[in-house]
Amino acid sequence: MKKLLGIHRPISQHWVGDGFPVRTLFSYNSVPQPGISPFLMLDYAGPAEFPPSPHPRGVGEHPHRGFETVTIMYSGEVAHRDSGGNSGTIGPGDVQWMTAASGVVHEEMHSQAFSQRGGKFEAAQLWVNLPARLKMSSPRYQGILDVEIPVVTLPEDAGSVRVIAGTFGDAHGAAKTYTPINLWDVCLKAGHTLKLTLPENHTAALSILQGKLKLDGGKTASEAQLAVFERSGTDLLIEAETETTFLVLSGEPIEEPLAGYGPFVMNTQQEIHQALSDYQSGRMGHLAG
Ligand code: MN
Repeated sequence: MKKLLGIHRPISQHWVGDGFPVRTLFSYNSVPQPGISPFLMLDYAGPAEFPPSPHPRGVGEHPHRGFETVTIMYSGEVAHRDSGGNSGTIGPGDVQWMTAASGVVHEEMHSQAFSQRGGKFEAAQLWVNLPARLKMSSPRYQGILDVEIPVVTLPEDAGSVRVIAGTFGDAHGAAKTYTPINLWDVCLKAGHTLKLTLPENHTAALSILQGKLKLDGGKTASEAQLAVFERSGTDLLIEAETETTFLVLSGEPIEEPLAGYGPFVMNTQQEIHQALSDYQSGRMGHLAG
């Protein structure tokens, strides 16, 4: 069994632009020990009700370099466009896996349709680190639709596991990753238990979005909390006290120095200065249109 190391409350609550009221469940700036590499940050947006608005809210043009952003939509719609010419709408159940690598400039807004009708907005954005050898590689964009994500139904009507990345049983995740990662979106119904098997020596953490889980030793983790487990061992046994939605984050740690500033996460300060200079001089590109 993997031992529970700690349960962490959100480290901050703030708005990203005027569209995303987020709780930051963890960040590489204040990572719980021993760290949860290759994951850098997780923002949980909402759930929040937005009134109808003629003008889409969101976050305007901004860059990223050195890592990947993974946007998991639960309710509402995000309209996205970037300097690579990619654009589209991310709807409920969809996942956008954007490899910024050497640099992407993009905007993330509520869609026009969602803005006009208003309603519930809920999403998570995970930042995944890239190893030094890939930080300056070409960007990649994976727009993954809900229907493309394998869903494993758990025995005894206990719930379901959406395999966004990695492998759960015989199901292979929809997203391509550069380093070994399991990212599962789980719904476990009240009173049911689930045994998860994860690779030895990989990071293992659970981000609880809604509900309450009973963990190792009877400790509980609830809404917007992060449970971090030791890397050694393979199995986790969890029980849902109420119907619980949570993300399983597991991956091979990237043991390299980190230097971060805002939307850039590199290995050295020199690379951060270079990123700022490249963005300011337009070398990361611009939004089309
Ligand atoms: Mn962004």
